[in-house]
Amino acid sequence: HAKADGRKRERFFTGEMEAQMQLRHALEADLRAALENEEFELHYQPLYDLSERRICGFEALIRWNHPVRGRVPPMDFIPLAEEVGLIVDIGRWVLRRACKDAAQWPEGIKVAVNVSAIQFSSSDLTQDVSEALAAAAVAPSRLELEITESVLMENLNEVLPILHALKQRGIRISMDDFGTGYSSLSYLSSFPFDKIKIDKSFVNDIIDNKEAHAIMRAIILLGDALGMRVTVEGVETAAQMTLLECEECDEIQGYHISPPRPAGDVPHLLSLPPKSSGATDSPRLER
Ligand code: C2E
Ligand code: MG
Ligand code: MG
Ligand code: MG
Repeated sequence: HAKADGRKRERFFTGEMEAQMQLRHALEADLRAALENEEFELHYQPLYDLSERRICGFEALIRWNHPVRGRVPPMDFIPLAEEVGLIVDIGRWVLRRACKDAAQWPEGIKVAVNVSAIQFSSSDLTQDVSEALAAAAVAPSRLELEITESVLMENLNEVLPILHALKQRGIRISMDDFGTGYSSLSYLSSFPFDKIKIDKSFVNDIIDNKEAHAIMRAIILLGDALGMRVTVEGVETAAQMTLLECEECDEIQGYHISPPRPAGDVPHLLSLPPKSSGATDSPRLER
């Protein structure tokens, strides 16, 4: 009996895996056509400078408007695009589009673009970036490239010279999702980062949990000590914003300021009055 059950289960799993594979193949085929069919779009989420109390830049976040499936989230297609190498062409499109859009914004407003590890190893990233900036006549100092720790881990010797070359041209480099990798601390001082973006998972509990607050404070101090700008991602409430202000965090990003919006909404976002953090008495740790 047990044996029969086992076979049934096996068949079930095999069927499910087959369905997954089919979905993957279908998505891959669609992904290949998506660039040509202009199904990608960039949305922009404000980076908010806490001491100046104003938006100082926008992060470009890709959106795929699939003709049948509707909006496919980046997490459902970026890893696939990386696996099959399509991320190189997609990444090039993102760089060009983001620079073109930024050319329409005031000079003081920066644009941040996410870059995948594959773009470092299978394309001339420095050239792609230079071409995108030149085509849009945007100053290199307005562009920030966001890379995750895994980008570094995967091919250290390849990535480091490219980062230095990009920096030499005046482009800024941010470490994205800081704290989610394995060896953040040891890597942090050996790479030329201008900014660290503290992952959203560190902000969730900072109001209710003293330890979470203490960890946040320590990371902000660490970034500061290493001369890096510190951004906190995923700020959703006024209380979190107030606490981060008190901790002298440089910059925040999150739904409390604004979710990612289409490029056409940028002028409106820039015209909004300074965001109030609400209450002045946020829970504080003893110094
Ligand atoms: P990321 O670079 O860490 O981007 C931040 C993500 O957090 C975005 O998700 C954003 O919509 C979301 N987010 C922002 N504020 C909040 C908040 O207050 N609460 C919550 N719960 N979430 C918030 P999104 O747009 O789905 O992008 C997910 C990831 O996909 C990005 O993470 C990035 O790693 C990748 N990605 C997006 N666009 C591109 C791209 O053009 N190229 C590459 N290589 N990766 C991209
Ligand atoms: Mg990012
Ligand atoms: Mg991030
Ligand atoms: Mg993140």
